[in-house]
Amino acid sequence: MAFSASIGAPTAVQLGITRLVALREVQAAAEWFRAHEPELRDWQLQVAAIPAPPFGEGPRAEWMRARFAELGLEEVQVDAVGNVLAARPGTDRHQKLVAITAHLDTVFAAGTALNVRREGDRLYGAGISDNGAGIVGLLALASALRAAGIGHSAGLLFIANVGEEGEGDLRGMRHIFCESAWKDRIGPTVVLDGAAIDTVVTQALGSRRFQVTIQGPGGHSWSDFGAPNPIVVLSHAIARFSRTELPAEPKISANVGVISGGTSVNSIPESASMKVDIRSASQEEMDRLEHALREAVAEAAAEYPKRARNGSRGISSEIQLIGFRPAAELDPGARILQVIRAVDAHLGNRARLHRASTDANIPLSLGREAISIGAGGSGGGAHTLQEWYDPAERDLGLKRVLLAVLALAGVQK
Ligand SMILES: [Zn+2]
Repeated sequence: MAFSASIGAPTAVQLGITRLVALREVQAAAEWFRAHEPELRDWQLQVAAIPAPPFGEGPRAEWMRARFAELGLEEVQVDAVGNVLAARPGTDRHQKLVAITAHLDTVFAAGTALNVRREGDRLYGAGISDNGAGIVGLLALASALRAAGIGHSAGLLFIANVGEEGEGDLRGMRHIFCESAWKDRIGPTVVLDGAAIDTVVTQALGSRRFQVTIQGPGGHSWSDFGAPNPIVVLSHAIARFSRTELPAEPKISANVGVISGGTSVNSIPESASMKVDIRSASQEEMDRLEHALREAVAEAAAEYPKRARNGSRGISSEIQLIGFRPAAELDPGARILQVIRAVDAHLGNRARLHRASTDANIPLSLGREAISIGAGGSGGGAHTLQEWYDPAERDLGLKRVLLAVLALAGVQK
C-alpha cells in the first residue's frame, strides 16, 4: 500500500488499529452491536426508568450489578460510595487495567416523572441519553467481547459510577482514584457520557462553588434602624466581585446563581446568602478569582463593625466551598489520544477536541490518561424532561469504543 508524502507513513498506533480490525473476533464483536440493537434499546428503557437522583443511585446500581453478573464479568461489587465495578481479566496480570466508566446518576430530583418511553424509533425520557446511552455502552461492550470470545492482554475494569452530576461533585470517581484499592491498578480511562461521537473531551473544565453567608443582628426596620443589614452587605460584596477583571484567554466564568435572605419587608434580615460558581480550565485563574471573591466579601463586611454600638452582634461573613472539580488537560502526546485519533481515522469519523466537566476530570487532574466520549447514536435535551435518544448508527459509536479499548488493552494474535 502506498501512502502519499502529505499523509505520511502510518504510525505504530495506526498499524495496530489496522491489525485489530482485520481480526475475525473483532469483526464479530462489531457485528454483535448491529444485530443486538433491540436488546440495547430494551436495556436503555429499563435503566432510564429507574430513578437515580444525586445521592440516590442505589436502585439503579443494583440493576447494574445484576447485569454485570449476568454478563459473566468477575469481581462484581458495589463499593463503599455506591459505584458498581466489574472486571474482565486480561492475560497479562502485570499490566495496568483499562477502565471504562459511565455515570449512573441523573440531574433529576427524587419524585420527578421521568416519563421513559419509546415512540417509533426514538426513545424519550429524562436521562435517556445522559447517561442511558453511556450505561448501555458499558453493557454492550461487555456483551460483545463475551459473544465474540475476545481475549486482551490488559484487564478491563467496568465502572458504573455515582455522583457525576451537580452537587454529586464527582464523588464516585474521586473515591475510585483517590481511596479505593483499584486506584493504583488503573492505567488509561475511557469515560462514556451521552451519545455524540463528534467530540473527544481531553480538557477538564474545572469548577469551584461557594456558598457565601452574611449574618447580622437583625431587627425591626423602624425601631432598630441603623443596625447593619446583611442583604446590603452581600450586595456590596457582589458589586465588588463583579468588577473583577476576567481574561478572555484562558476563558473563565463567574456566576452568582442563587441569592436569598430576609423574612419580611419591615424586618432587618439576620442573614443573606448567595451561591457562586467559578469555572475555568486554568487552576491559576480559578485561584485568582476565588481570592477576589474572598476579598470582596471581606471588604464589604469590614465596612461594618463586628459588634454594633448597643452591644449586639455586628456583621460576620462565612464562605463555604460547596463544590470542587479540578481543572486539567490531557498531554497532547498521550497514547490514549493517538488511539482515539487512529480509530476515528479508520472509521472516517470527524471529532474535535473538547473541554467539558466530566468524570475524566478526576483521572486527568491526577496526571492519568483519560478521555470522555459518547457511546453512539444521537441525543438531545440533556438535563430536561424533553430528553430524547435516537439509536440510529449506535453501532458505529460502539465500534469506536470497542476498537479504542482493545487498542489500549492490547490483543495478542
Ligand atoms: Zn452525563
